[in-house]
Amino acid sequence: MSYIVFARKWRPKDFNSVLGQEHVTTTLRNAIAQNRVAHAYIFSGPRGVGKTTTARIFAMALNCKDGPTKEPCGACDSCKEISNSTNLDVIEIDGASNRGIDEVRALRENIKFAPTRGKFKVYIIDEVHMLTEEAFNALLKTLEEPPAHAIFIFATTRPYKVPSTILSRCQRFDFKRLTVNEIAGKLKEIIKSEKLDIEEEAIYTIARAAEGAMRDAESMLDQLVSFCGKKIDVESATAVSGTVGQEVLFDFTEKVINKDTPGILKLVDGIISGGKDIPQFVNSLVVHFRNLLVAKTSDDPQALIDLPKEMIEGICAQAKSFSSETLLYILTVLMNTQDSVRRAISQRIPLELAAIRLTRRDDLLSLTSILDRIGQLEKKLEGGTDKPETKPAPKAEPQQHKDEKITEPLSLSFERVCEVWPNFLRSILSKKMSVALFLQPAQPLKLEEKLLTIAFSKEHNFHKEALEANGNRKMIENALSEILRHDIRVDMKVVEALEKKVSVEDLLQEEHQEETHEVVKSALEIFGGNLKKR
Ligand SMILES: [Zn+2]
Repeated sequence: MSYIVFARKWRPKDFNSVLGQEHVTTTLRNAIAQNRVAHAYIFSGPRGVGKTTTARIFAMALNCKDGPTKEPCGACDSCKEISNSTNLDVIEIDGASNRGIDEVRALRENIKFAPTRGKFKVYIIDEVHMLTEEAFNALLKTLEEPPAHAIFIFATTRPYKVPSTILSRCQRFDFKRLTVNEIAGKLKEIIKSEKLDIEEEAIYTIARAAEGAMRDAESMLDQLVSFCGKKIDVESATAVSGTVGQEVLFDFTEKVINKDTPGILKLVDGIISGGKDIPQFVNSLVVHFRNLLVAKTSDDPQALIDLPKEMIEGICAQAKSFSSETLLYILTVLMNTQDSVRRAISQRIPLELAAIRLTRRDDLLSLTSILDRIGQLEKKLEGGTDKPETKPAPKAEPQQHKDEKITEPLSLSFERVCEVWPNFLRSILSKKMSVALFLQPAQPLKLEEKLLTIAFSKEHNFHKEALEANGNRKMIENALSEILRHDIRVDMKVVEALEKKVSVEDLLQEEHQEETHEVVKSALEIFGGNLKKR
């Protein structure tokens, strides 16, 4: 018997075996049962989660010899041909390689003719968003008046790239990324039936590395079998998947707990020289610290963490060494790193910087002391005479900053908002550190009447959402109202890119003293910005 890859061999042949997409398969089955099949469908979702497979099963159900039926038999000629992609009534087009108008013209010519054997002609266009505009226009004409026997199924990983004129004529189904447990479950089925011998942790290593795509998990399993035969251990799985093992994540975290900067840099070096995929490693770290935060804050971590039971116990134990706020801070740093490793020419540097930040977090978290120093400089720039102190401010309880100016009645202007912004951050910091941390990358954008718009760049959307939650917005509004002595309302907005930095940097720009540079450097580190001239 010839060799068939797992992804093909284990491809689902009926609706019941499609994994994790019950919301789609149930609706499609009901549509057939109630004779309410539409002419056009759009299946959107990540790659490898079953979109084209479901499209083929739907075609089988429609054209099965006694069909349309909710449960295709899988045994009749029509079913078998569709499953082998040799059926003349089910036409599969790859949008990525057939982008042109010619293919769509041929389709329009061809669609007029009745199906050869089945009741329907089913056109499955994969990666439909890749079609050219001309091709879409031609397709649209067909969709406006489809022949009674024609059914279109468009599959896409990027539905937002499909013109709305097409989308509005389709019934849309969103396919989900599979969970680690769903993938692990299916892998176990395959392993049992193929009589493979695989360690439990190796199964989870594959399932995690697949990032929600069953097809990727099956391909990895294939690779492993040809790599090490029927007996597979966790080391081989880790090597083939290009991921790092769980023990590395635990080790990294241990070094963060112990603030072991030399140790963590050595660990990072080992990962890089081991040829591991760095963006994937940072993603794994984000998931690991997310799990720690879940363990810290949820009363049922088992339900929310995709790991074997004994590992969840390890997570819960590690979580005890952190406060939720520290975990939030670490996650913020790591999520920024996710973005910068993708853009950086040398991926090593952002990862090392993050590692240093996390192991030296106390120094960075004494935001209060640095803000105090900025406050002194600010006064000086405004004409005060007091020199900045050279000794570091004490890391004491956050102090209420006394700015005499705020006791005077003041007119409200955008400039005034920018001026008090550092004061405002300081005041928030004394109330709730996580809110101050999320506000760091933000900037005041404009003031209309008493409505202040605060801007975030796209990569900080998460920060914005966190600030919109619960009482955070209210806290921001109250703090601003108190400082500005007007009732301020706040709107938060994500913008393409933050252009001008109206913040501490501007206030400090004209300073050239050594001390100032230190403060600017620290401030920039905290505020995550670049020094820009306006
Ligand atoms: Zn059949």
